[in-house]
Amino acid sequence: MTSIQTDLSGHAAVITGSTSGIGLALAEGLAAAGANIVLNGLGDSDEIETTRVDLAQRHGVDVRYHGANMLKPDEIADLIAFTKSELGRVDILVNNAGIQHVAKVEEFPEGKWDSIIAINLSSAFHTIKAAVPIMKDQGRGRIINIASAHGLVASPFKSAYVAAKHGIMGLTKSVALEVAESGITSNAICPGYVKTPLVEGQIADTAKARGISEEDVVNDVILKAQPTKQFVTYDQLNGLMLYLASDAGASCNGAAYQVDGGWVAQ
Ligand code: NAD
Repeated sequence: MTSIQTDLSGHAAVITGSTSGIGLALAEGLAAAGANIVLNGLGDSDEIETTRVDLAQRHGVDVRYHGANMLKPDEIADLIAFTKSELGRVDILVNNAGIQHVAKVEEFPEGKWDSIIAINLSSAFHTIKAAVPIMKDQGRGRIINIASAHGLVASPFKSAYVAAKHGIMGLTKSVALEVAESGITSNAICPGYVKTPLVEGQIADTAKARGISEEDVVNDVILKAQPTKQFVTYDQLNGLMLYLASDAGASCNGAAYQVDGGWVAQ
């Protein structure tokens, strides 16, 4: 007989970059588990409002939206303060916002480097810095960083992304050690390729950078790296995230969880 529950009713979760792709799917998973949600991300305001109302109605939870730009530390701090003031708690922080740019290092635009480091790495420092005092007061918290297989291994033409994702692995581990006695955990999920708008964009960019067709990028580059030859699904990521967010995940701390079809086992 187990007393472990994955019901997250009454928990408050904030997911950066949750207007699209993986972040939106994880928000859906958390809402389905009963958590109240703060959505964040860029996009058309009418579409975001439709998503917000739809999630709240389908799952019977409180869903709010905060438009913090992950390039702006003061707006990021306000996202966490908003979660606390609107939902009363900050139980689960999912650092998911991310962008990509594919180019040879000698041609990599400086501005793209800066924004990838800011959005994919520094934004997680700012959310964690603001959330940890609240989580310590609660005596419980879950920090889940959506890193990547590229947090563990590299690919060419993605210098900024690979640097940021390797950086978030270090942040995940350092924070894990600091909060270990406070009922808080800090972990990283490292997905392989998931077919999201970000990856659709990468297919086109990689085709250009390598001078090959988009079909060849999918078959010979993207799924070549993934031994299962299958894209990772949203449900597969949700299963792991909900485990880490639940009481069952309390002893998982400072770890990197690969969900990549065997990519980094090679
Ligand atoms: P996506 O482009 O579909 O979604 C990215 C989200 O981040 C969107 O909601 C977007 O609005 C938000 N965002 C971007 N810039 C922002 C900013 N300045 N401020 C606030 N929000 C911002 O991408 P995705 O594929 O769902 O990727 C989500 C995360 O998963 C990223 O961190 C990515 O690196 C990681 N990841 C993706 C894959 C994959 O195959 N798709 C694999 C491994 C890791």
